[in-house]
Amino acid sequence: MDNIFPSNHPLVAHKLTLLRDVNTEPQKFRELIQELATLLTYEATLDLAIAPTTVRTPLAPAQGFNLVDRIGLVPILRAGLGMVEGVWGLMPSAEVWHIGLYRDEKTLKPVEYYNKLPVEPTVSVCLILDPMLATGGSAVAAVNLLKRWGVKKIKFIAILASPEGIASMQQYHPEVPIHLAAVDQCLDERGYILPGLGDAGDRQFGTG
Ligand code: URA
Repeated sequence: MDNIFPSNHPLVAHKLTLLRDVNTEPQKFRELIQELATLLTYEATLDLAIAPTTVRTPLAPAQGFNLVDRIGLVPILRAGLGMVEGVWGLMPSAEVWHIGLYRDEKTLKPVEYYNKLPVEPTVSVCLILDPMLATGGSAVAAVNLLKRWGVKKIKFIAILASPEGIASMQQYHPEVPIHLAAVDQCLDERGYILPGLGDAGDRQFGTG
């Protein structure tokens, strides 16, 4: 599949196993979400633009590089929130723009309830953060919104995806790369990923 990048890093596989475990408590679950977000972002940002510069070490001038891209982190509320710190640690100057989308329980379609994006885009690259790419409804809606905002380069960082969610993104936004820990088997009748890890929001925030 083009533009789908499941990680093959052993640390990702190990942490994902702990994350799936029904006995993992919310505090550990939050730590793992953060760590996985860091590892997946490291892989997803291989092509960020840099410009040469010089820097003085204590001994001599050295060749260096500065990041050129202005990066926006776009966590999808609420489960994406737990990924922010892990990514921000790598790029502290990134802007964070929240998008609130919930899934209507009956239709499984996304409903936008929070969006404070200013009129003009302030970033050149957006990393959408959502641990679960399930039906794909929220993911497609989030990309629509960022494209309308005028962002040229968008990447999607998830922890798990269903084949259905991937198919939906490939139908509507095939150029958006998806970086993730694993692709699971299918969705159940409630739109949960199987075997998945349950409700990523509830498990982070202890609300399940
Ligand atoms: N959202 C979740 O938190 N879990 C799923 O399995 C699907 C959507």
